[in-house]
Amino acid sequence: MKATMIAPCGMNCTLCYAHLREKNKCEGCRGNDELKMPGCVKCAINRCDARTDSHVDLCYVCAQYPCKRLKELDKRYKAKYSMSMLENLADIKTQGMDAFLQQQSERWTCPNCGSVICVHRGRCSSCGSKE
Ligand code: SF4
Ligand code: SF4
Ligand SMILES: [Zn+2]
Repeated sequence: MKATMIAPCGMNCTLCYAHLREKNKCEGCRGNDELKMPGCVKCAINRCDARTDSHVDLCYVCAQYPCKRLKELDKRYKAKYSMSMLENLADIKTQGMDAFLQQQSERWTCPNCGSVICVHRGRCSSCGSKE
């Protein structure tokens, strides 16, 4: 797991189906726009300039954090995928990025084959084993 794959909203793009697929692999929110899903290219959170003053490009540095848009995204992910962007950001803030990445690696590595579990599909991207 890499820090460059953590989006400003707290999404870990390593776990995304668009990153884990074989063809047209998305490099993540901080990667090339041409390879992203259309929704992620025009994402208002990624493009938001409320945090541009900080050297940390994560939403928790923002004075408006957590804004309505971010709370809505978090609510949707919690309901649909049992994952919370706000919890991710809180963990990064309190424990630091390295500890967060370690924790993510433990949570999202398939116990069966060691590949990444896809957050959107809820199963291993390689062997298909359920979380
Ligand atoms: S499609 Fe969006 S959420 Fe998925 S890896 Fe790309 S930028 Fe991240
Ligand atoms: S929390 Fe702040 S930086 Fe993040 S999307 Fe909301 S307003 Fe923009
Ligand atoms: Zn597996």
